[in-house]
Amino acid sequence: MFTSVVGYPRVGSQRELKFASEKYFKGEIIEAELLAVGKKLREQHVLSQKKSGIDFIPSNTFSYYDCLLDTAYLLGIVPERYKKLGLSEIDTYFAMARGYQGEKGDVKALAMKKWFNTNYHYIVPEIEDDTIISLSGSKIFDEYEEAKEIGVDTKPVLVGPYTLLALTRFTGKKTREDFFEQVVDTYKAILDGLNKRGALWLQLDEPSLVRDINEDDKAFLVKLYKEILADKGSLKILLQTYFGDIRDVYETITGLDFDGIGLDFIEGKQTASLIEKYGFPKDKILFAGLVNGKNIWKNNYAKTLETLAGLRNKGISLVLSTSCSLLHVPYTLKAEEKLSEEYKKHFAFAIEKLEELKELATLAEENNYQSSEAYKANALLFESGRNCRDEAVQKRLKEINDSDYTRLPVRSEREKIQKEELKLPTFPTTTIGSFPQTKDVKSNRSAYRKGEISEEAYKKFNKEKIERAIKWQEEIGLDVLVHGEYERNDMVEYFGESLSGYLFTEKAWVQSYGTRCLKPPIIWGDVSRKKPITVEWSVYAQSLTDKPVKGMLTGPVTIFNWSFPREDISIKESMTQIALAIRDEVLDLEANGIKIIQIDEAALREKLPLRKSDWYSEYLDFAIPAFRLVHSGVAADTQIHTHMCYSEFTDIIPAIDNMDADVITFEASRSDLLILDSLKEHNFETEVGPGVYDIHSPRVPSVDEIVAALKKMREKVSDDKLWVNPDCGLKTRGEEETKPSLINLVEAANIIRKGA
Ligand code: GLN
Ligand code: ZN
Repeated sequence: MFTSVVGYPRVGSQRELKFASEKYFKGEIIEAELLAVGKKLREQHVLSQKKSGIDFIPSNTFSYYDCLLDTAYLLGIVPERYKKLGLSEIDTYFAMARGYQGEKGDVKALAMKKWFNTNYHYIVPEIEDDTIISLSGSKIFDEYEEAKEIGVDTKPVLVGPYTLLALTRFTGKKTREDFFEQVVDTYKAILDGLNKRGALWLQLDEPSLVRDINEDDKAFLVKLYKEILADKGSLKILLQTYFGDIRDVYETITGLDFDGIGLDFIEGKQTASLIEKYGFPKDKILFAGLVNGKNIWKNNYAKTLETLAGLRNKGISLVLSTSCSLLHVPYTLKAEEKLSEEYKKHFAFAIEKLEELKELATLAEENNYQSSEAYKANALLFESGRNCRDEAVQKRLKEINDSDYTRLPVRSEREKIQKEELKLPTFPTTTIGSFPQTKDVKSNRSAYRKGEISEEAYKKFNKEKIERAIKWQEEIGLDVLVHGEYERNDMVEYFGESLSGYLFTEKAWVQSYGTRCLKPPIIWGDVSRKKPITVEWSVYAQSLTDKPVKGMLTGPVTIFNWSFPREDISIKESMTQIALAIRDEVLDLEANGIKIIQIDEAALREKLPLRKSDWYSEYLDFAIPAFRLVHSGVAADTQIHTHMCYSEFTDIIPAIDNMDADVITFEASRSDLLILDSLKEHNFETEVGPGVYDIHSPRVPSVDEIVAALKKMREKVSDDKLWVNPDCGLKTRGEEETKPSLINLVEAANIIRKGA
C-alpha cells in the first residue's frame, strides 16, 4: 500500500526559517541568504520523507509566509497598492503579509485569518475589480524541479480554485463569477507547466469543501473543475480535503474526473458513512486520511487497519494518508530530551507519523498482521492505558451546579456599580496585556529556566520591568494599566506549567503565522491548579499605582484550544476541568485587591465547528458556560474583561454576549468594521474595545488615523460602552514603535473626549 503526506511543516526543526526571515526583515542578511535557508529546509524535508519510505511526498507546501498567499501570488492576485511600492518580488510578497512602512511608501498588511479550525493563520488575498489573474510566478515548478534534482519525484501541492476564491476578499463590485475564466485559464496553465516538467500528480487542496455548501456553490465548483480537468493531460489530479467530511458534495466530487480524492477520516465524522452509502468509484484512488495530522497521540493501529480492511473489501484502491498537512504538529519527538519515555511512547510528531504511515502500510499488506511485532507493540500501548485520573478533580466536577454558571447581579446592574467604583473617564484607554518581549526579558527568563540565575534575581529583574512599565503607562496617561506579562513565555504554556495534568515540550514548535511559532502544551491527564499563578505579579504592579491594574489570565477555552487535547475524554469535560482551575486564580486575584481581571479568550472563535449545524451542540453550548464558570464567583464591583483575537464572530454575537463579561476587546483594525454593525443590531450589552490599530505590523498609527477609527466606532457603539485599545497584546512588537503608538492612542482618546 502506498503512503501519502498532505503537507509538511516548514519553519525548520530549529525554527531556522523564522530566524532567517527575522534577520532579513531587519536588513541583517540579504535575499540570497534567506533563499538559501529555504532551499536547505526543503531539501531536508523531502529527503526525510523519502527516507521514511513515503510514496507521495508533497512539494510547494514550503512557504516563506503562507501558502494561500503563495497561491494568490502565483496567480497574480496582488493588489495595486503593493505593486505601486515598486519593491522586489519577495519584498512585495512580504509587504502583503506584514505591511510596509519605509522610503517607498506606507501600506498596511492584508488581513489575516485563522485557517479553518486551526491556530494557523492565512493571509486573506484581495481581488480588485481590475485585477488580472494570470500565471505570474514559478514557485510550484521550481520547487518540483528542485526536489527532482535531488532524486525525489514529488507531488506538487496548490490550494484549489474553489477554496482560493472562497477565502479571497473581493474589494470591488465584481464577484468570483467575473473571474471564472481567468482563474480557469491560470490553473490550466499551471497544469500544463507541470505536465511539461513531467510531474505525475498534482494535489489541489480544497478544505472549503468540508463547510456547508449551497446549490450555487456546488454549481460553481462543478463548473470550475469540469473546465480545469478537461485539459489535465497525463497529469493526475488529487483533490485533497481535510478538517471534516464533504457531505454536501460527496456525490458531486466523486462524479468529477479526479484521479484521486483525499478524505479525512479523523475529523470527518461522516466520511466512512458517506463511502458506505454512496460507494467510491473504482476508477479513482481514495487517499484515506487516517493518520491524524493535527494531534500528537500515537495512531491506534488496530482501528486504522480495520478501517483499511473494510475499505479494501469494498474493492476501493487505497493510498494511506495523513488526515491533513503535518504543518499542525511539531517536527520530531527526538528533540525532546526532558520528556520521559513513559510519556513519549504515547506520542507521534511529524517524523514519527511518517514512520507510522510506513508501518501501517506494511502491516496492511500482511495477512495476519496481528502477529507482527509492530502491531503487538502498538496494541499493548493502547491496552495498558495511562495514568491520568485525579479523584479530587472528578469529585469537584460532580459538585458543580447550575448556579455556578451564573454571575449575579446581572450585567446592567454591575455596570452601574463599576462606573461608580472605578471612576474611569469616558473612552477609557487600556492595552491588551503584554508589552514588548525584548531580548533582556527573554534572556532573563531563559537564564532562570536553565538554572543560571536564582529565583530571586529572576523576580527582581521582572519587578524592575513592571515598575518601569507602570511608570510610563502613567506618564503617557493610560487609564487601566497592565503589568506587562514579562514572566510569560506564552499565554497558554505559562498557565499550563502551573496546572497539574499538563506536559511540556522543549522544541515542539508549531507555526502560528509567518515567523510566529507556538509550543502547544499537551493535556495528559485531569487538570487542576497547583498553586497561584499570576497573583504575585499583579499585586506587585497594583502596589505601585493608584490607577487600576488589570489582572491578566488566559481563559479555559483558549488554554484548551491551544493545547494538544486528550483523545480519551470529551472536550466539554476537559474545558470544565480547566475552567475550575482558572476560577481559583480569579478568586485569588480578587481576594488580593485586583479590581479588574481580564480573562483572555483569544482562541474562542477558532474551534467553532466548520458547519453551522454543529456550532452550538458541539461547542458553544459548553465553551461559553466554561467561561462563565471561571468568573461567576466574583463580586459585582470586580470588572471582568475578556479579549478575543480576530473579529470574526459576527455570526455568534449572542453567544459572545452570553459569556457575561463586563468588557470585551477584540481585533477590528485589520478587518473591516462590519462587526460593529452586528453589535448594534444585536444590542450587544458588553462594553467593547474594538482594537483601534493593528499590532501585527510594525507601523506606528497616526493620531488622525486613530481618531478616524474611533469616530467610525462611535457611529455604532454608544459612548458609555466604548473602550480605546490596540487590537492585541504588544509582546511581538519593539519598544521603538510601541510607545509612540500608545502615545498617539491616548492623544486620540483625549481629542474625542474634547468633543471632536
Ligand atoms: N493578554 C495577552 C497579551 O497581551 C493576549 C494575547 C492574545 O490575545 N493573543 O499578550
Ligand atoms: Zn489578541
